[in-house]
Amino acid sequence: MSSTKQPPHEAKAEVSTTHLRLILLGARRIPSLHRKYLSSLDDAQQPLALDSLPVLTPLELSVATDELLRDRRPDDGSLIYAGGGTLTRPSMSLLPKDMFVEEVHGSWAALGPGDVLANFFPAGRTWPTHSFYNQLAARAGASALPVGDLQDGQFERWLGFCAEYGVNALAAPPDIVDRLLRHRAAGHQLPWLRKLLIGGAFHDPTPQGEIARWLPGVEVWQLYGSAEAWMVGHRGPGCAEGVFHPLPHQYAEIDGGRILVTTTGVHRAPPLIRYLIGDLGAPAACACGREGSPIRVLGRIAPSVVYQGRPIRARELVDLALETGEVTAAQVAVVTTEGADETAQTVELRVVLADGVPDDHYTREWIRYQALNGHLALDPTKAEHAEGFQVVVVDRLHGDGSEEPPVLVVESAG
Ligand SMILES: [Zn+2]
Repeated sequence: MSSTKQPPHEAKAEVSTTHLRLILLGARRIPSLHRKYLSSLDDAQQPLALDSLPVLTPLELSVATDELLRDRRPDDGSLIYAGGGTLTRPSMSLLPKDMFVEEVHGSWAALGPGDVLANFFPAGRTWPTHSFYNQLAARAGASALPVGDLQDGQFERWLGFCAEYGVNALAAPPDIVDRLLRHRAAGHQLPWLRKLLIGGAFHDPTPQGEIARWLPGVEVWQLYGSAEAWMVGHRGPGCAEGVFHPLPHQYAEIDGGRILVTTTGVHRAPPLIRYLIGDLGAPAACACGREGSPIRVLGRIAPSVVYQGRPIRARELVDLALETGEVTAAQVAVVTTEGADETAQTVELRVVLADGVPDDHYTREWIRYQALNGHLALDPTKAEHAEGFQVVVVDRLHGDGSEEPPVLVVESAG
């Protein structure tokens, strides 16, 4: 894809020295960040430039957030959530109480007065996307019908309920979008659906062609971000696939193919400066005419899957399986099944059992429960009825020629 006239990596033009200085001053009270940026602030001779500052890694942000949580002030943020991690290695994040709804609403006209949004994002523990979409609807003058997560077999009844109560927009994580497309592929009609809101603090990779095929005429509005950086970019009808316009308070640059995000112009603690959000990206062009230098999101740097509407690092699921003590090796596999009219995706946690551990239903369910229960981003109550996440016992893991089998493999079941 061709680059824009003002490539996103031209950082200096987008974040002023004054803003940078303010952001850096906010870092001073957090010991680890104070040390990190000390020389940048003290070097008064050098003009402050964003691209001269070091990259902030997820681990550094996690440490800084822990320090801040121990010495928190009232205006630091009132929403504490787990961006990821496990109970033994949590990765906590902090957001202001409005979750930057004002900033998103100001740029992303997905909803307006008169819209009725059915919110299918799960309202599970430690993950605020469900509340975010409810608040966004309220801010836009629309109505919200918070549906949340659904048990198997409830989906069609709820779509009927949505039709009955004047719903014209759905907000949904990838697994629900997938169900929606399968529902249409099975011949059901959704004449009331006008808008589909997808994505959030992660990248929803659902192919736009699939949505256009089964939901022609439905406007697709998409957000992009990461668990820690929160919402970063947006796209709407007319935007190129996978291309996002950064929100005004989020400056996105591409550094060696990696997307870095700096939050500017709003109070945020800890400050986010050149944060490595974990996705690969490239400068892009978009013909829609919306503001900002767009970026194309190319996928995760660390192997991860989107499950229960949030990104999960494959390594964390593997570690949780190993922690059960019943497993000697594990690997996550995303298996795509292409049918005549539909595509289904299953996440498999493949395990090699330790000697003497029986390969039966109870063992598999126990490992699955432990993985779901131990992961801060996942909801253990789904262990009873979760479709699309299975523990599969194997003799050996799929290798790629290296000594260690990869933590994530992607396969097509044909
Ligand atoms: Zn666009």
